[in-house]
Amino acid sequence: MTHYFHYQQDQLFAENVALADIAEKFGTPCYVYSRAALTDAYRQFADALSAREHLICFSVKSNSNLAILNLFARLGAGFDIVSGGELQRVLAAGAAANKVVFSGVGKTEAEMRLALDAGIWCFNVESSAELDRLNEVAGQMGKIAPISLRVNPDVDAKTHPYISTGLKQNKFGIAYAEALTLYRKAAGMAHLRVTGMDCHIGSQLTEISPFIAAAEKVLVLVDQLAHEGVKLEHLDLGGGLGIRYDDETPPSIAEYAQALLGALQGRSEKLIVEPGRVLVGNAGVLLTRVEYLKPGEEKHFAIVDAAMNDLMRPALYDAYHAIQPVNRSPAVAQKYEVVGPICETGDFLGHARELALDQGSLLALMSAGAYGMSMSSNYNTRPRAAEVMVDGSHMHLIRERETVAQLFAGEKIIA
Ligand SMILES: *Cc1c(COP(=O)(O)O)cnc(C)c1O
Repeated sequence: MTHYFHYQQDQLFAENVALADIAEKFGTPCYVYSRAALTDAYRQFADALSAREHLICFSVKSNSNLAILNLFARLGAGFDIVSGGELQRVLAAGAAANKVVFSGVGKTEAEMRLALDAGIWCFNVESSAELDRLNEVAGQMGKIAPISLRVNPDVDAKTHPYISTGLKQNKFGIAYAEALTLYRKAAGMAHLRVTGMDCHIGSQLTEISPFIAAAEKVLVLVDQLAHEGVKLEHLDLGGGLGIRYDDETPPSIAEYAQALLGALQGRSEKLIVEPGRVLVGNAGVLLTRVEYLKPGEEKHFAIVDAAMNDLMRPALYDAYHAIQPVNRSPAVAQKYEVVGPICETGDFLGHARELALDQGSLLALMSAGAYGMSMSSNYNTRPRAAEVMVDGSHMHLIRERETVAQLFAGEKIIA
Protein backbone atom coordinates (compact mmCIF):
# COMPACT_ATOMS: atom_id res chain seq x y z
CA MET A 1 0.00 0.00 0.00
CA THR A 2 1.53 3.27 -1.00
CA HIS A 3 1.05 6.27 1.25
CA TYR A 4 -1.38 7.68 -1.32
CA PHE A 5 -3.88 5.16 0.08
CA HIS A 6 -3.89 5.56 3.83
CA TYR A 7 -6.10 5.53 6.92
CA GLN A 8 -7.35 8.66 8.66
CA GLN A 9 -9.22 7.78 11.84
CA ASP A 10 -9.86 4.23 10.61
CA GLN A 11 -11.26 5.43 7.27
CA LEU A 12 -9.34 4.47 4.12
CA PHE A 13 -8.55 7.45 1.89
CA ALA A 14 -7.16 7.94 -1.59
CA GLU A 15 -5.15 11.14 -1.21
CA ASN A 16 -7.66 13.46 0.55
CA VAL A 17 -10.83 11.67 -0.50
CA ALA A 18 -12.54 9.00 1.63
CA LEU A 19 -13.10 5.85 -0.42
CA ALA A 20 -16.51 5.56 1.26
CA ASP A 21 -17.48 8.87 -0.38
CA ILE A 22 -16.47 7.53 -3.79
CA ALA A 23 -18.55 4.38 -3.26
CA GLU A 24 -21.48 6.53 -2.18
CA LYS A 25 -21.25 8.75 -5.23
CA PHE A 26 -20.29 6.31 -8.00
CA GLY A 27 -21.29 2.92 -6.64
CA THR A 28 -19.31 -0.32 -6.57
CA PRO A 29 -17.40 -2.11 -7.97
CA CYS A 30 -15.25 0.88 -8.83
CA TYR A 31 -11.59 1.35 -9.68
CA VAL A 32 -9.98 4.30 -7.92
CA TYR A 33 -6.63 5.77 -8.96
CA SER A 34 -4.42 8.35 -7.29
CA ARG A 35 -3.12 10.98 -9.68
CA ALA A 36 -0.28 11.79 -7.29
CA ALA A 37 0.78 8.14 -7.13
CA LEU A 38 0.81 7.87 -10.94
CA THR A 39 2.76 11.09 -11.29
CA ASP A 40 5.20 10.13 -8.57
CA ALA A 41 5.97 6.74 -10.15
CA TYR A 42 6.53 8.30 -13.57
CA ARG A 43 8.78 11.03 -12.16
CA GLN A 44 10.86 8.51 -10.23
CA PHE A 45 11.51 6.72 -13.52
CA ALA A 46 12.28 9.87 -15.49
CA ASP A 47 14.57 11.24 -12.78
CA ALA A 48 16.44 7.96 -12.47
CA LEU A 49 17.11 7.87 -16.23
CA SER A 50 17.83 11.58 -16.64
CA ALA A 51 21.56 11.01 -17.10
CA ARG A 52 21.04 9.63 -20.60
CA GLU A 53 18.78 10.14 -23.58
CA HIS A 54 15.75 7.99 -22.97
CA LEU A 55 12.08 7.43 -23.70
CA ILE A 56 9.70 5.86 -21.19
CA CYS A 57 7.04 4.06 -23.23
CA PHE A 58 4.17 3.24 -20.88
CA SER A 59 2.80 -0.23 -21.60
CA VAL A 60 -0.78 0.57 -22.57
CA LYS A 61 -2.10 -2.93 -21.95
CA SER A 62 -1.48 -2.57 -18.21
CA ASN A 63 -4.05 0.24 -17.96
CA SER A 64 -5.50 1.88 -21.02
CA ASN A 65 -7.92 4.47 -19.61
CA LEU A 66 -7.66 7.68 -21.65
CA ALA A 67 -7.24 9.86 -18.56
CA ILE A 68 -4.25 7.81 -17.45
CA LEU A 69 -2.70 7.79 -20.94
CA ASN A 70 -3.26 11.55 -21.16
CA LEU A 71 -1.63 12.10 -17.76
CA PHE A 72 1.47 10.15 -18.82
CA ALA A 73 1.56 11.89 -22.22
CA ARG A 74 1.60 15.25 -20.46
CA LEU A 75 4.43 14.05 -18.24
CA GLY A 76 6.42 13.30 -21.40
CA ALA A 77 5.86 9.57 -21.79
CA GLY A 78 5.81 7.57 -24.98
CA PHE A 79 3.73 4.42 -25.30
CA ASP A 80 4.23 0.72 -25.95
CA ILE A 81 1.20 -0.60 -27.82
CA VAL A 82 0.24 -4.14 -28.83
CA SER A 83 -2.71 -3.50 -31.14
CA GLY A 84 -4.25 -1.01 -33.55
CA GLY A 85 -6.90 -0.38 -30.92
CA GLU A 86 -4.26 0.71 -28.43
CA LEU A 87 -2.76 3.01 -31.09
CA GLN A 88 -6.12 4.70 -31.56
CA ARG A 89 -6.45 5.05 -27.79
CA VAL A 90 -3.09 6.73 -27.31
CA LEU A 91 -3.74 9.12 -30.21
CA ALA A 92 -7.17 9.93 -28.75
CA ALA A 93 -5.44 10.59 -25.42
CA GLY A 94 -3.17 13.17 -27.02
CA ALA A 95 0.03 11.15 -27.41
CA ALA A 96 2.62 11.98 -30.06
CA ALA A 97 2.76 9.17 -32.63
CA ASN A 98 6.53 9.49 -32.89
CA LYS A 99 6.83 8.35 -29.27
CA VAL A 100 5.00 5.07 -29.88
CA VAL A 101 6.57 1.62 -30.20
CA PHE A 102 4.46 -1.25 -31.48
CA SER A 103 5.05 -4.71 -29.98
CA GLY A 104 3.20 -7.99 -30.43
CA VAL A 105 3.52 -11.25 -32.33
CA GLY A 106 0.43 -10.94 -34.51
CA LYS A 107 0.28 -7.52 -36.15
CA THR A 108 -2.27 -7.49 -38.98
CA GLU A 109 -1.87 -5.62 -42.27
CA ALA A 110 -4.54 -3.16 -41.18
CA GLU A 111 -2.68 -2.48 -37.93
CA MET A 112 0.56 -1.94 -39.82
CA ARG A 113 -1.16 0.55 -42.13
CA LEU A 114 -2.63 2.44 -39.20
CA ALA A 115 0.77 2.69 -37.52
CA LEU A 116 2.60 3.69 -40.73
CA ASP A 117 -0.01 6.34 -41.40
CA ALA A 118 0.33 7.73 -37.89
CA GLY A 119 4.12 7.71 -38.13
CA ILE A 120 5.13 5.71 -35.06
CA TRP A 121 8.68 5.60 -33.73
CA CYS A 122 9.30 1.90 -34.25
CA PHE A 123 7.81 -1.52 -34.98
CA ASN A 124 9.18 -4.18 -32.64
CA VAL A 125 9.15 -7.07 -35.12
CA GLU A 126 8.79 -10.58 -33.72
CA SER A 127 9.28 -12.92 -36.70
CA SER A 128 10.73 -13.28 -40.18
CA ALA A 129 7.24 -13.50 -41.70
CA GLU A 130 6.32 -10.23 -40.00
CA LEU A 131 9.37 -8.54 -41.58
CA ASP A 132 8.18 -9.67 -45.02
CA ARG A 133 4.66 -8.43 -44.43
CA LEU A 134 5.76 -5.08 -43.03
CA ASN A 135 8.15 -4.52 -45.94
CA GLU A 136 5.34 -5.24 -48.36
CA VAL A 137 2.77 -3.02 -46.64
CA ALA A 138 5.24 -0.13 -46.31
CA GLY A 139 6.14 -0.54 -49.98
CA GLN A 140 2.48 -0.35 -51.05
CA MET A 141 2.12 2.85 -49.04
CA GLY A 142 5.34 4.39 -50.32
CA LYS A 143 6.73 4.52 -46.79
CA ILE A 144 9.77 3.29 -44.92
CA ALA A 145 8.98 1.41 -41.71
CA PRO A 146 11.39 1.92 -38.80
CA ILE A 147 12.05 -1.44 -37.15
CA SER A 148 13.78 -3.18 -34.32
CA LEU A 149 13.76 -6.92 -33.82
CA ARG A 150 12.49 -8.24 -30.53
CA VAL A 151 15.23 -10.64 -29.56
CA ASN A 152 14.44 -13.49 -27.23
CA PRO A 153 17.55 -13.67 -25.04
CA ASP A 154 16.61 -17.03 -23.46
CA VAL A 155 16.84 -15.68 -19.92
CA ASP A 156 14.73 -16.96 -17.05
CA ALA A 157 12.73 -14.05 -15.62
CA LYS A 158 11.88 -16.18 -12.54
CA THR A 159 8.27 -15.07 -12.57
CA HIS A 160 4.90 -16.75 -13.14
CA PRO A 161 5.06 -18.95 -16.28
CA TYR A 162 2.12 -17.10 -17.87
CA ILE A 163 4.01 -13.80 -17.72
CA SER A 164 7.46 -15.13 -18.60
CA THR A 165 8.26 -14.18 -22.18
CA GLY A 166 12.03 -14.41 -22.68
CA LEU A 167 12.58 -18.17 -22.73
CA LYS A 168 13.23 -20.29 -25.82
CA GLN A 169 9.91 -22.08 -25.42
CA ASN A 170 7.88 -18.81 -25.41
CA LYS A 171 6.08 -17.50 -28.49
CA PHE A 172 7.70 -14.08 -28.18
CA GLY A 173 10.60 -12.57 -30.06
CA ILE A 174 13.20 -13.93 -32.40
CA ALA A 175 15.48 -16.75 -31.30
CA TYR A 176 18.81 -15.40 -30.17
CA ALA A 177 20.71 -17.59 -32.61
CA GLU A 178 18.67 -16.32 -35.58
CA ALA A 179 18.69 -12.64 -34.70
CA LEU A 180 21.78 -11.62 -36.68
CA THR A 181 20.63 -13.43 -39.80
CA LEU A 182 17.29 -11.66 -39.62
CA TYR A 183 18.92 -8.29 -39.01
CA ARG A 184 21.01 -8.80 -42.15
CA LYS A 185 17.85 -9.67 -44.05
CA ALA A 186 16.02 -6.60 -42.69
CA ALA A 187 18.93 -4.29 -43.51
CA GLY A 188 18.61 -5.36 -47.15
CA MET A 189 14.86 -4.77 -47.42
CA ALA A 190 13.80 -1.75 -49.46
CA HIS A 191 10.97 -0.45 -47.32
CA LEU A 192 12.41 -1.02 -43.86
CA ARG A 193 14.91 0.99 -41.86
CA VAL A 194 16.70 -0.84 -39.05
CA THR A 195 16.78 1.54 -36.09
CA GLY A 196 16.97 -0.46 -32.90
CA MET A 197 16.96 -3.67 -30.91
CA ASP A 198 14.34 -4.75 -28.42
CA CYS A 199 13.81 -7.34 -25.71
CA HIS A 200 11.18 -7.90 -23.03
CA ILE A 201 11.59 -10.97 -20.86
CA GLY A 202 8.50 -10.98 -18.68
CA SER A 203 6.45 -9.23 -16.06
CA GLN A 204 6.47 -8.85 -12.27
CA LEU A 205 10.22 -9.48 -12.04
CA THR A 206 11.46 -9.06 -8.50
CA GLU A 207 15.20 -9.33 -9.17
CA ILE A 208 17.55 -7.20 -11.22
CA SER A 209 19.84 -9.96 -12.47
CA PRO A 210 17.62 -11.31 -15.31
CA PHE A 211 17.25 -7.78 -16.72
CA ILE A 212 21.00 -7.34 -16.77
CA ALA A 213 21.64 -10.81 -18.17
CA ALA A 214 19.21 -10.03 -21.00
CA ALA A 215 20.74 -6.61 -21.67
CA GLU A 216 24.23 -8.09 -21.84
CA LYS A 217 23.18 -10.76 -24.30
CA VAL A 218 21.43 -8.22 -26.48
CA LEU A 219 24.44 -5.87 -26.44
CA VAL A 220 26.65 -8.60 -27.88
CA LEU A 221 24.37 -8.60 -30.92
CA VAL A 222 24.32 -4.80 -31.12
CA ASP A 223 28.13 -4.75 -31.24
CA GLN A 224 28.28 -7.50 -33.81
CA LEU A 225 25.86 -5.55 -36.03
CA ALA A 226 27.88 -2.35 -35.63
CA HIS A 227 30.92 -4.35 -36.73
CA GLU A 228 29.02 -5.29 -39.89
CA GLY A 229 28.08 -1.66 -40.50
CA VAL A 230 24.53 -1.68 -39.11
CA LYS A 231 24.52 1.05 -36.48
CA LEU A 232 21.48 1.07 -34.18
CA GLU A 233 19.98 4.29 -32.80
CA HIS A 234 18.10 2.89 -29.85
CA LEU A 235 17.98 0.01 -27.44
CA ASP A 236 14.61 -1.00 -26.02
CA LEU A 237 15.00 -3.05 -22.85
CA GLY A 238 11.26 -3.66 -22.36
CA GLY A 239 9.29 -3.50 -19.14
CA GLY A 240 8.66 -6.02 -16.42
CA LEU A 241 9.78 -4.46 -13.15
CA GLY A 242 7.65 -5.93 -10.37
CA ILE A 243 5.78 -4.32 -7.52
CA ARG A 244 4.96 -5.31 -3.98
CA TYR A 245 1.59 -7.04 -3.73
CA ASP A 246 2.27 -9.01 -0.56
CA ASP A 247 5.77 -9.64 0.76
CA GLU A 248 7.75 -9.35 -2.46
CA THR A 249 10.81 -7.13 -2.31
CA PRO A 250 11.37 -5.93 -5.87
CA PRO A 251 14.18 -3.47 -6.56
CA SER A 252 13.12 0.16 -6.48
CA ILE A 253 12.69 2.08 -9.71
CA ALA A 254 15.92 3.93 -8.92
CA GLU A 255 17.88 0.71 -8.33
CA TYR A 256 16.55 -0.83 -11.52
CA ALA A 257 17.33 2.29 -13.55
CA GLN A 258 20.84 2.51 -12.08
CA ALA A 259 21.48 -1.08 -13.09
CA LEU A 260 20.33 -0.43 -16.66
CA LEU A 261 22.45 2.70 -16.89
CA GLY A 262 25.40 0.69 -15.61
CA ALA A 263 24.93 -1.97 -18.27
CA LEU A 264 24.82 0.72 -20.98
CA GLN A 265 27.75 2.75 -19.76
CA GLY A 266 29.89 4.20 -22.54
CA ARG A 267 27.25 3.58 -25.22
CA SER A 268 25.45 6.23 -27.22
CA GLU A 269 22.18 4.52 -28.17
CA LYS A 270 18.98 6.09 -26.89
CA LEU A 271 17.45 3.92 -24.14
CA ILE A 272 13.80 2.95 -24.41
CA VAL A 273 11.95 1.20 -21.59
CA GLU A 274 8.39 -0.14 -21.59
CA PRO A 275 7.19 -0.17 -17.97
CA GLY A 276 3.55 -0.91 -17.23
CA ARG A 277 2.82 -2.45 -13.86
CA VAL A 278 5.39 -0.44 -11.90
CA LEU A 279 3.85 2.86 -13.03
CA VAL A 280 0.22 2.04 -12.28
CA GLY A 281 -0.05 -1.10 -10.14
CA ASN A 282 0.13 0.51 -6.73
CA ALA A 283 -1.65 3.66 -7.88
CA GLY A 284 -5.06 1.98 -8.05
CA VAL A 285 -7.49 0.00 -5.91
CA LEU A 286 -10.72 -1.82 -6.66
CA LEU A 287 -13.51 -0.80 -4.35
CA THR A 288 -16.16 -3.42 -3.63
CA ARG A 289 -19.04 -3.98 -1.22
CA VAL A 290 -19.99 -7.10 0.72
CA GLU A 291 -23.34 -8.38 -0.54
CA TYR A 292 -23.64 -11.40 1.74
CA LEU A 293 -21.79 -13.18 4.49
CA LYS A 294 -22.20 -16.92 4.15
CA PRO A 295 -20.86 -18.95 7.03
CA GLY A 296 -19.93 -22.48 6.03
CA GLU A 297 -18.90 -25.66 7.78
CA GLU A 298 -15.28 -25.38 6.71
CA LYS A 299 -14.97 -21.87 5.35
CA HIS A 300 -16.75 -18.58 5.72
CA PHE A 301 -17.51 -16.75 2.53
CA ALA A 302 -17.75 -13.01 2.01
CA ILE A 303 -19.58 -12.58 -1.28
CA VAL A 304 -18.71 -9.18 -2.72
CA ASP A 305 -19.97 -7.27 -5.76
CA ALA A 306 -16.63 -7.38 -7.61
CA ALA A 307 -15.68 -10.57 -9.39
CA MET A 308 -13.16 -12.26 -11.67
CA ASN A 309 -14.58 -10.31 -14.62
CA ASP A 310 -13.53 -7.07 -12.87
CA LEU A 311 -10.17 -8.29 -11.58
CA MET A 312 -8.97 -11.42 -13.32
CA ARG A 313 -5.50 -11.75 -11.80
CA PRO A 314 -6.43 -14.00 -8.85
CA ALA A 315 -8.34 -16.43 -11.09
CA LEU A 316 -5.78 -16.31 -13.91
CA TYR A 317 -2.47 -16.44 -12.04
CA ASP A 318 -3.54 -17.22 -8.49
CA ALA A 319 -2.29 -13.68 -7.84
CA TYR A 320 -2.45 -12.10 -4.40
CA HIS A 321 -4.08 -8.74 -3.74
CA ALA A 322 -4.17 -7.35 -0.22
CA ILE A 323 -7.75 -6.68 0.91
CA GLN A 324 -8.26 -3.74 3.27
CA PRO A 325 -11.44 -2.65 5.03
CA VAL A 326 -12.59 0.82 4.00
CA ASN A 327 -13.77 1.36 7.61
CA ARG A 328 -11.50 -0.31 10.14
CA SER A 329 -13.68 -1.86 12.80
CA PRO A 330 -12.74 -2.88 16.35
CA ALA A 331 -14.91 -6.03 15.99
CA VAL A 332 -13.20 -9.41 16.12
CA ALA A 333 -11.84 -10.48 12.75
CA GLN A 334 -12.31 -13.91 11.27
CA LYS A 335 -11.07 -15.69 8.19
CA TYR A 336 -13.04 -15.20 5.00
CA GLU A 337 -12.89 -16.48 1.49
CA VAL A 338 -13.54 -13.28 -0.43
CA VAL A 339 -15.42 -14.31 -3.57
CA GLY A 340 -17.48 -12.76 -6.36
CA PRO A 341 -20.95 -13.67 -7.61
CA ILE A 342 -19.77 -15.36 -10.84
CA CYS A 343 -20.68 -18.97 -11.48
CA GLU A 344 -17.13 -20.34 -11.42
CA THR A 345 -15.22 -21.79 -8.49
CA GLY A 346 -12.23 -19.84 -9.80
CA ASP A 347 -14.09 -16.64 -9.01
CA PHE A 348 -12.23 -15.67 -5.88
CA LEU A 349 -10.43 -12.46 -4.95
CA GLY A 350 -8.71 -13.62 -1.79
CA HIS A 351 -8.36 -16.74 0.37
CA ALA A 352 -8.39 -16.91 4.17
CA ARG A 353 -8.32 -13.17 4.82
CA GLU A 354 -8.66 -11.97 8.40
CA LEU A 355 -11.40 -9.35 8.29
CA ALA A 356 -14.16 -7.96 10.50
CA LEU A 357 -17.11 -7.73 8.14
CA ASP A 358 -20.81 -7.05 8.01
CA GLN A 359 -23.21 -7.17 5.13
CA GLY A 360 -22.66 -3.87 3.30
CA SER A 361 -19.03 -3.42 4.41
CA LEU A 362 -16.75 -1.82 1.87
CA LEU A 363 -13.43 -3.39 0.93
CA ALA A 364 -10.49 -2.20 -1.14
CA LEU A 365 -8.52 -4.66 -3.24
CA MET A 366 -5.11 -3.08 -3.18
CA SER A 367 -2.50 -2.83 -5.96
CA ALA A 368 -5.19 -3.18 -8.61
CA GLY A 369 -4.05 -0.40 -10.96
CA ALA A 370 -2.27 -2.69 -13.42
CA TYR A 371 -3.91 -5.50 -15.41
CA GLY A 372 -7.15 -4.84 -13.52
CA MET A 373 -9.62 -2.82 -15.57
CA SER A 374 -7.68 -3.50 -18.79
CA MET A 375 -8.25 -7.27 -18.44
CA SER A 376 -11.86 -6.99 -17.36
CA SER A 377 -14.67 -8.66 -19.29
CA ASN A 378 -18.44 -8.86 -19.38
CA TYR A 379 -18.67 -12.50 -18.31
CA ASN A 380 -22.07 -13.23 -16.73
CA THR A 381 -23.36 -10.08 -18.50
CA ARG A 382 -21.78 -7.90 -15.89
CA PRO A 383 -21.29 -4.28 -16.96
CA ARG A 384 -17.72 -3.18 -16.40
CA ALA A 385 -16.88 -1.08 -13.36
CA ALA A 386 -16.65 2.69 -13.17
CA GLU A 387 -13.20 4.29 -12.87
CA VAL A 388 -12.44 7.33 -10.74
CA MET A 389 -9.28 9.43 -10.53
CA VAL A 390 -8.58 11.21 -7.26
CA ASP A 391 -6.56 14.40 -7.43
CA GLY A 392 -6.00 15.89 -3.98
CA SER A 393 -9.49 16.55 -2.62
CA HIS A 394 -11.19 16.08 -5.98
CA MET A 395 -12.70 12.98 -7.52
CA HIS A 396 -13.14 12.71 -11.26
CA LEU A 397 -15.17 10.05 -12.99
CA ILE A 398 -12.82 8.91 -15.78
CA ARG A 399 -15.00 6.08 -17.06
CA GLU A 400 -18.71 5.67 -16.59
CA ARG A 401 -20.05 2.37 -15.39
CA GLU A 402 -21.20 0.37 -18.40
CA THR A 403 -24.91 -0.21 -18.85
CA VAL A 404 -26.49 -3.55 -19.68
CA ALA A 405 -27.99 -1.99 -22.83
CA GLN A 406 -24.45 -1.27 -24.09
CA LEU A 407 -23.55 -4.90 -23.59
CA PHE A 408 -25.97 -6.29 -26.16
CA ALA A 409 -26.31 -3.24 -28.39
CA GLY A 410 -24.46 -5.00 -31.25
CA GLU A 411 -26.36 -8.29 -31.05
CA LYS A 412 -29.12 -9.30 -33.48
CA ILE A 413 -31.98 -11.73 -33.16
CA ILE A 414 -32.56 -13.67 -36.41
CA ALA A 415 -35.87 -14.62 -38.00
C1 LIG B 1 3.27 -6.33 -21.11
C2 LIG B 1 4.48 -5.76 -21.77
C3 LIG B 1 5.23 -4.75 -21.14
C4 LIG B 1 4.94 -4.25 -19.75
O1 LIG B 1 5.20 -5.17 -18.76
P1 LIG B 1 5.09 -4.75 -17.23
O2 LIG B 1 5.42 -5.98 -16.50
O3 LIG B 1 3.69 -4.31 -16.99
O4 LIG B 1 6.08 -3.66 -17.00
C5 LIG B 1 6.28 -4.21 -21.86
N1 LIG B 1 6.60 -4.64 -23.10
C6 LIG B 1 5.92 -5.61 -23.72
C7 LIG B 1 6.31 -6.03 -25.08
C8 LIG B 1 4.84 -6.21 -23.08
O5 LIG B 1 4.17 -7.18 -23.69
